[in-house]
Amino acid sequence: MRLSEMRHLLAARNLQLTRSLGQNFLHDANQLRRIVDLAEIRRGERVLEIGPGLGPLTEHLLAAGADVLAIEKDARLVAVLAERLGVAPCTTLPDVAPTPAAGELGRLRLVQADALRVLEDQPRDWSAWKLVANLPYSVASPILVELASAERAPALLVVTLQLEVVRRLQAGPGSKDYGVLTLLVQMRYEPRGSFRIPADCFFPAPDVESACIALARRPAGALTAAGERVFRQVVRRAFSERRKKALKLLKFDWPAPVLEVAWSDLGLKPDERAENLTRDHFLELARRLTNLPAHERRTL
Ligand code: SAM
Repeated sequence: MRLSEMRHLLAARNLQLTRSLGQNFLHDANQLRRIVDLAEIRRGERVLEIGPGLGPLTEHLLAAGADVLAIEKDARLVAVLAERLGVAPCTTLPDVAPTPAAGELGRLRLVQADALRVLEDQPRDWSAWKLVANLPYSVASPILVELASAERAPALLVVTLQLEVVRRLQAGPGSKDYGVLTLLVQMRYEPRGSFRIPADCFFPAPDVESACIALARRPAGALTAAGERVFRQVVRRAFSERRKKALKLLKFDWPAPVLEVAWSDLGLKPDERAENLTRDHFLELARRLTNLPAHERRTL
């Protein structure tokens, strides 16, 4: 979809873009191809797209053979997209998978809804899906955390985001970008490459820099479901005051003796801050703090 076509579609309907919905549309065909290549789409694969907007990425995904479930919040854009691609939108997640071999347009399901609410309220088995999306920057982090924490999370996330958020997703210990978002996503996902997208590839050009990142789901089994809940609690508590000692912070919620033994076994210094603990440290802490005997447990 060319920039001239985007302008025309918007002007013909007198559509004013909404900044708070992060409506910066990607019109550069090379960048759209790079996103689809990074997602390694195979024919018949299921793709969840959040925020299709006017549909430039949707069209590339369909052309690559994906079955697309697109969730767009803005009813005005849903109407444009439905008309352009000849689909009837709905307002809840359809039960059925897109019909295979129904032709390019038959492989699109379009839902008009707030994607974050849909993900929260209508949990699904996403394990056979890929998320490929140019995410609205204002809700990108909660959407990623919600999907990455889902019981059956997508196999691959290929998302265009603010560069600053991409850096946080890729960060390692000791870096200023390393924090809660990094660990909540890296608990289940491994960063697999990224590339920058210049601002002038979007209409209108955003004020911030952007990049696309791929995150692949790690093999299951590092933690039980209960362990994952504890992992998230430990991470949030340890980073609740970044400059304070992690051990001291964790003692608000878990028994000191268990933490002190873990700290010593992991070779951590008593004054270590959360930003210097690795994912493996957090995994091990979560294991030790899950299913504590009743006399050692505290109510969180
Ligand atoms: N995919 C299109 C593209 O690449 O040009 C549009 C991307 S634009 C950055 C983000 C899109 O997400 C907008 O169309 C916006 O209306 C939509 N959006 C914003 N918040 C949303 C939400 N909570 N749920 C679903 N869509 C949302």
